[in-house]
Amino acid sequence: MDIRIGIVTSLLISVFFLWLTISSAASGYYSVEVDGKEIAVVSNDEYVQEIIDILVTEKEREIGKEVEVYNEVTVTKVNPTDEAVIGKEELHSRLSSVLKYKISGAVVRVDDVPLFAFDDVSTAKAFIEKLKEQYDVISGAKISFEEDVRVLEAKVWLDKVVTVAEAIAKVKDSADIPKHTIKEGDTLWDIAQANNISVDKLIRLNPELDPGYLQIGQELRLSDKEPLINVVCVFEEVLEERIEAPVEIRRNDKLAQGKSKIIQEGEEGLKRVTYRVVKRNGVENKRIVLSEEVVKEPVPRIVEKGTRVLVASRNFGGGRLAKPSAGVVTSPFGMRWGRMHTGVDFGAPHGSAVIAAEDGKVIRAGWHGGYGLCIDISHGNGMVTRYAHLSRINVKVGDQVQKRQVIGAVGNTGNSTGPHLHFEVIINGRPQNPMNYL
Ligand SMILES: [Zn+2]
Repeated sequence: MDIRIGIVTSLLISVFFLWLTISSAASGYYSVEVDGKEIAVVSNDEYVQEIIDILVTEKEREIGKEVEVYNEVTVTKVNPTDEAVIGKEELHSRLSSVLKYKISGAVVRVDDVPLFAFDDVSTAKAFIEKLKEQYDVISGAKISFEEDVRVLEAKVWLDKVVTVAEAIAKVKDSADIPKHTIKEGDTLWDIAQANNISVDKLIRLNPELDPGYLQIGQELRLSDKEPLINVVCVFEEVLEERIEAPVEIRRNDKLAQGKSKIIQEGEEGLKRVTYRVVKRNGVENKRIVLSEEVVKEPVPRIVEKGTRVLVASRNFGGGRLAKPSAGVVTSPFGMRWGRMHTGVDFGAPHGSAVIAAEDGKVIRAGWHGGYGLCIDISHGNGMVTRYAHLSRINVKVGDQVQKRQVIGAVGNTGNSTGPHLHFEVIINGRPQNPMNYL
């Protein structure tokens, strides 16, 4: 706490709501009531004012500030009773535990409700300033409160006075609302159960939630706790962002339907985007684009799509696949030693070329368990071809390959007993006999 300098005079006492009912001479039996409750019987009524004066002086010395007693103290002459008459020392101790004081301090009112009491206006203002720095320290940011927050001079209960740190901790604690981030496999019932709330309450706490469709990554509130004060931070942010290359499709009637040819590889552009960002209690809750400036225009990707219609062959529309290896079939598709062989094996020398069976996009290029070095190419319409046990891979995931393009070399990697190419044709996730497509 800060050090206060105050001159305390023991004679300057402000006792409010103090009534002394003195009905007779200075000796006898006097009942002392504080706020309607008897706390003692004394033999001299003057003790009461005397002890209150002492207590006020002691309190003022302790805190370095004038205090006012805010209790109703009544002294009534009573007939001799069985109750023990107490002395000054005991009266001091009993009054000390019941007297309540007010000081001239300050309150912070939030939407007209007094929220915190402070020693003085400058401490209350220091709290406001400190609160503004709690979540985001961004130069140029405008920080405000969602609520109407005011500092007012006021008489405050001494025992309700808080420090800046205590008030900050309370606000931050109130803003710390327990949340659950939806993971794969979560159900509302599980989340509710794990957090001891009902599903109904979970839905009520999250009005934007569609109970029939949980989105992975979505945050759910688990409590109806409300922040005491919401700190809003508004600032501008400039980010450089990539502009995806647009795709331009051209029709080519010389090219078979289902086939495409890349005429020009696209190139990403770059833009500078200025955002206005709004954060609430340190969490971003709004982002608006203020302006965009293109730094580099993207180059379109030009693709020719074939429109020539071919007669479908077996199940595969668009012609036959190219044979991926020059070797001969050494092991056919189907049951082999009691196990399903999901492709055909071509016996070929180590390092000999493996070619793409059809135009397509590489969706796997790397080690794949027992397949060893393996390439998967997607040809659209649910068709994928797989090339396994390779010794070398020439392509990477995302590459567009052309039919008969060399994509790798025959090898003996993974679960393999000698150099060969294991080749699969997978339609909608199920291996088919490749010989039907070659
Ligand atoms: Zn095989």
